[in-house]
Amino acid sequence: MKYIGAHVSASGGVEFAPVNAHEIGANAFALFTKNQRQWVSKPLTPENINLFKENCEKYNLQAEYILPHDSYLINLGHPEEEGLQKSRAAFLDEMQRCEQLGLKLLNFHPGSHLSKETPEECLDRIAESINIALNKTKGVTAVIENTAGQGTNMGNEFWHLKYIIDRVEDKERVGVCLDTCHTFTAGYDFLDEENYDKVFRDFDEIVGFSYLRAIHLNDSKKALGTRVDRHDNIGKGFIGLEFFQRIMKDPRFDNIPIILETPDETLWKEEIALLRSFE
Ligand SMILES: [Zn+2]
Ligand SMILES: [Zn+2]
Repeated sequence: MKYIGAHVSASGGVEFAPVNAHEIGANAFALFTKNQRQWVSKPLTPENINLFKENCEKYNLQAEYILPHDSYLINLGHPEEEGLQKSRAAFLDEMQRCEQLGLKLLNFHPGSHLSKETPEECLDRIAESINIALNKTKGVTAVIENTAGQGTNMGNEFWHLKYIIDRVEDKERVGVCLDTCHTFTAGYDFLDEENYDKVFRDFDEIVGFSYLRAIHLNDSKKALGTRVDRHDNIGKGFIGLEFFQRIMKDPRFDNIPIILETPDETLWKEEIALLRSFE
């Protein structure tokens, strides 16, 4: 079964996210559990937590299909001590918020070397950051997202994901999220059937589908291999509908959250219905 939703607003409180998901016909969703552009946010109150759980239950939205995303400020591979410590503390706070909400996944971008260290040094540091957070929490899986490779961002090559996973101690609590826009602009051409099969065979050989915990389903405003991260609505960009039809028919993407992060949110309801029609 496919679990499809979008990264919905949690403005006014986390408890509004499941309501917003329900309104667009979703059976999965993503959210920020705090303001994604600030280092520090108010702690969740018992009221926020209870209402969040109540609303999820009311609309039959299960924790397995809810994919919180961490703050954009966090860089778990930061080459400098101050930035690294600040990032690690903020990431732990994000993990603890997930624990409080009874959530099982936390999605994040791996990090950036800022041209001050080698890619391997940066990836080592990211793995160490994940180990620190996992040692201090229970039940939440660290879900590493692949990136477009913009600037000095790591995570644009499948081997980066594998390199990190290999160095995480608790393999049960590490996984990956593939963003279709990022995969495409990072240079993986999956447009025709043959290339689709090849890209996902490579992913399976390098990382393994057993580590796939989520999908970000986005079209791309930028062409293949541009390493620029600009999402487009489904069928409106360089990727096109045929690819999304294939994904929806592919059982390897069953039973994980499939999340739209497409720019025009007024289309989410239609997009979900369209994707359902491809199943
Ligand atoms: Zn994404
Ligand atoms: Zn993106």
